[in-house]
Amino acid sequence: MICVLTGGTGGAKFVDGLRQVIPAEQITLIVNTGDDLLWWGLYVSPDIDSITYALSGLLSRERGWGVKGDTFLCLQAMKQLGEPIWFHTGDRDLAVHLLRSRLLAEGKTLSEATAIICQKLGVKARILPMSDSRVETRVDTPSGELSFEEYFVQRWYQDPVNSVRFAGASDAEPAPGVIDAITSADAVLIAPSNPITSIGPILSVPGIREALHSAKGKIAAVSPIVGNAPVAGPAGILMAAQGLSCSIAGVAKAYEDFLDLLVCDSRDARGAEGLRGKGLRVQCTQTIMSSSEDRSALARTVLSLACGGLLRDEAAAGGSISEASGEPAPTSSEQP
Ligand code: GDP
Repeated sequence: MICVLTGGTGGAKFVDGLRQVIPAEQITLIVNTGDDLLWWGLYVSPDIDSITYALSGLLSRERGWGVKGDTFLCLQAMKQLGEPIWFHTGDRDLAVHLLRSRLLAEGKTLSEATAIICQKLGVKARILPMSDSRVETRVDTPSGELSFEEYFVQRWYQDPVNSVRFAGASDAEPAPGVIDAITSADAVLIAPSNPITSIGPILSVPGIREALHSAKGKIAAVSPIVGNAPVAGPAGILMAAQGLSCSIAGVAKAYEDFLDLLVCDSRDARGAEGLRGKGLRVQCTQTIMSSSEDRSALARTVLSLACGGLLRDEAAAGGSISEASGEPAPTSSEQP
């Protein structure tokens, strides 16, 4: 069993790779809900939706969110009615928000609503919200405190950021199954997701960090930072606001109390060497997931490394891994 902590965009690409490599039934995903919002009166959980769509094959690869081939008729109609339309929801996407909102209004928990939607969409992996309680990522800016979606989607992450906090976290509990999924997994993978606003909210839920400390399997993270910059989005700005450098060293620092292995991009070989000098196990490989093959190759490599050679042959076939800074990737017989 593999447990994955994930956000929406980078996480969904990685999860798309994982589902190509191991049976979905063996994957439990613990998903950030700090971005959740009420939109047009509906409960929207952007990261759960992205992961659900990735696993059901519905995710739009062009946009990286929402349903592929979706139409936006309702959005246009809402615009004509003078309603806000800065958060784009396609029509089929909207159906999921409607169903989830109805289930919640009937008294179901977010976990239960998620399980029902997954079952209806044919998702075989287990998707767990990090918590059934409301934990809200709040971004403090000179213009005031914003929700994550206001900061990210409505305002295009142009505001300077003072700090980030997770409102409600201290009173939250992990959703049912979360702690057991972490402690009993053969490996725990941290997706290449934003360390502050995707993985940060998950870690803020009391008990989850402690569960990582007592996890049976190895814990491996894939860096969302490549060449001292995020592949996309505001991770660098948010890391700086939280006192972390925008580098693989910053990612390692965010996870330092539980991380066994950091998987970073081959172009960060020099930084990797520095981290190894401090005692962290670091592997360099190609981590940019442009194609479906990139995604499955990265998933294979990370699984192989985290599961202690269980999938070694597949990893060797899937991509080049290097433990040594600045040297050519070893041949498959040299794989660790
Ligand atoms: P969000 O919930 O939509 O913010 O999504 P995530 O937190 O899961 O993903 C955002 C992060 O994914 C960003 O920090 C990006 O740098 C990272 N990311 C996106 N695509 C890639 C990729 O192809 N490779 C790697 N290594 N990171 C990526």
